[in-house]
Amino acid sequence: MKGLVSTALWLCLLIYSGQSSAKWFEDKQGIMGTNIHVELWSDSAQQGEAAIQAVMDEMQRINQLMSPYIESSELSKLNHQASAGFVPVSKELFELIALSVELAKETDGAFDITFASVGYLYNYRESQKPQQSQIAALLKAINYRHIRFNLTEQSVFFAHPNVKIDLGGIAKGHAVDNAIEILKKRGIKHALVTAGGDTKLLGDRLGKPWMVGIRDPRDKDKQAVVLPLADTALSTSGDYERYFEQDGKRYHHILSPKTGTSAKEVQSVSIIGQRSTLNDALSTAVFVLGVQKGMDLLNRTPGYDGIIVDNQRKLHYSNALVQ
Ligand code: ADP
Ligand code: MG
Repeated sequence: MKGLVSTALWLCLLIYSGQSSAKWFEDKQGIMGTNIHVELWSDSAQQGEAAIQAVMDEMQRINQLMSPYIESSELSKLNHQASAGFVPVSKELFELIALSVELAKETDGAFDITFASVGYLYNYRESQKPQQSQIAALLKAINYRHIRFNLTEQSVFFAHPNVKIDLGGIAKGHAVDNAIEILKKRGIKHALVTAGGDTKLLGDRLGKPWMVGIRDPRDKDKQAVVLPLADTALSTSGDYERYFEQDGKRYHHILSPKTGTSAKEVQSVSIIGQRSTLNDALSTAVFVLGVQKGMDLLNRTPGYDGIIVDNQRKLHYSNALVQ
């Protein structure tokens, strides 16, 4: 009898200790010029902390590869050399540039990574913008068709002397997709990974959905919409992330490739879909396209839906969200 009691007690302790060490782990860090937020559920402190570290390491790795501000990044190398001839790049960068060009075609040039040919003349922190004459001189360099690929050599060439590219509208989504894959491989079943405006959810929040907010574009303490989500991803592009005001105008970081100036049609765009890389690029594209053309694009893109906050602060939903 005594033996039975102690066995039962021992079992209880075992079960109790097994449950008590499972908990939510969380961390926030500033990487890639933005806020990275990871939350995950794990049975052990060792697994949970190592998984968070692996996500942060991945963010750092992608930053080193794709940042235009790091002289040694592959992207900087391309921007320095690719107008002179084909430059070999890593498979990862090659594929992301190729996908960006595909998306440029599908969005009628609204998403165009060569926007940077003019885009690098803006400095939002220092409230600096180019003169109209500078924009006019470089506008022809904005055109995704200038990007040429050599598939066998995995190399890239810019067929115009002033082309610069920037992956700010897609790299964070890519990083978030990679991060969730890393967590899955480590056996994590419930997680949230956010990089700036790009969020991806693995599983739910233990029987409940994750509640993901889309902020009011004109009040950071207010939510315009809160969505219950699980096993999906959401990206938001807004005119409030990086901007300055001058002469009563708002100069922000999403540029219309046609004009080389800030897109003015809407205040924010959120896209919901499985692949964060695509959500990221589509949110930027729809921002440039505006309500009508943006919704047309979403309504013909299966698996990707969106919510737009227009300039009158009115909400617009793509068809599948209101059916
Ligand atoms: P963030 O999460 O940084 O707010 P967004 O998804 O809203 O990013 O995209 C904005 C970023 O995309 C800009 O900072 C810039 O790097 C890039 N970008 C701006 N305009 C375009 C465009 N027309 N096509 C592709 N990328 C763009
Ligand atoms: Mg984007």
